[in-house]
Amino acid sequence: MKRFSVEQIRSDFPILKTKMNGKPLIYLDNAATSQKPRQVIETLDNYYENYNANIHRGLYKIAERATEGYSGSKEKVAKFIGADSMREIIYVRNTTEAINTVAISWGDANVKKGDHILITEMEHHSNIVPWMRLAKKKGAVLDYIALDKNKCGLDAQSIGGMLDKRPKVVALTQVSNVLGSINDVKEVTRMAHKTGAVVLVDAAQSVPHMAVDVKQIGCDFLAFSAHKMLGPTGIGVLYGKEDALEDMEPLLSGGDMIKTVHYDSYTWNDLPWKFEAGTSNIADGIAFGTAIDYLNTVGMHNIRAHEKKITKYALDELDGLDGVTTYGYGAKDIEKRGGVIAFAIDGVHPHDVAQIFDSEGIAIRAGHHCAMPLVTERLKQVALSRLSFYLYNRESEVDSAIAAIRKVKKIFKV
Ligand code: PLP
Repeated sequence: MKRFSVEQIRSDFPILKTKMNGKPLIYLDNAATSQKPRQVIETLDNYYENYNANIHRGLYKIAERATEGYSGSKEKVAKFIGADSMREIIYVRNTTEAINTVAISWGDANVKKGDHILITEMEHHSNIVPWMRLAKKKGAVLDYIALDKNKCGLDAQSIGGMLDKRPKVVALTQVSNVLGSINDVKEVTRMAHKTGAVVLVDAAQSVPHMAVDVKQIGCDFLAFSAHKMLGPTGIGVLYGKEDALEDMEPLLSGGDMIKTVHYDSYTWNDLPWKFEAGTSNIADGIAFGTAIDYLNTVGMHNIRAHEKKITKYALDELDGLDGVTTYGYGAKDIEKRGGVIAFAIDGVHPHDVAQIFDSEGIAIRAGHHCAMPLVTERLKQVALSRLSFYLYNRESEVDSAIAAIRKVKKIFKV
């Protein structure tokens, strides 16, 4: 796209023309899932209407077309994140499944009793619980990199201190889904590799919103979900360095992931198919490729620039409201944060906030955001409300959100 135009982008998203509670829908829950452009929806329809067939098996035209579409989508993903080839791109259901695959498959073979596993205090449950289970199973120790004193980013000293324990694996998020903070995963990876650790990056909130290059980061594994980046639900990515994936056992076994099977033996298929047992999520995989095309056309740098602008505007507006607290870096540190703003209104439960927003046609998330330790133990809140932006959000929608907060304040006399 030569000139970034929110209005042109919005015209591609049918759902943005709908109403919620009689008001035009304002969708500010993009960290949970994104909306889908017409092009992605049409790709799904087109597959089912015109070339629905299983991949890798059929020796007929529509099966070949389906196989090409599915593999082609992986080629696009590989290029999008700077991977060497699609051999490094495993399709799974979502970020959660990608992280579990590493924690179970890689973890089982490499983590022993007494080993350390290192994550951070700002992780989503899907990057905590699989490691906790692994630690429990193996008798390993789960350590956390602490938040800095302002509870915005990671504490530099804590990173160094925890790495001194020589963890076997470091797993951290690139962008927090609560604080919006962007972690320097490149630097953490460099430091972790020096101590011999393997690094997994949870990129669920980064790959959809900014240019991410796995080679530049240098990480061993990276996980993200298509549904947060204009693609369908039910498809996600585990990127792994080829060597790491070659060494790993697949989680599931059965059809398609094998090359040969005899009554007494088997051999695995080549990467990436070794990790994809059974019939793949073909339609969603192909449509994911269309989502990548869409993001490339708009340009990831344009998307990041737009989100920075709208987030800064929202932070400035929120700053002027008495009784409202925002979390994470402020407007002046916009380079260090993504388009996620968690906030609290004095004495008002976030569920009440979300309900009033709903009555105004505004979709936001309220709760612990699947980051209970961070929200309840570090930020000391029972729950938080959250605005999260994407490429189709307008500044006028921020104004509507601010007006809804004023309404909450009036009702609850804050
Ligand atoms: N990690 C982060 C930082 C997230 O924000 C999310 C979802 O919100 C996930 C992991 C899990 O993603 P999924 O539910 O697609 O597996």
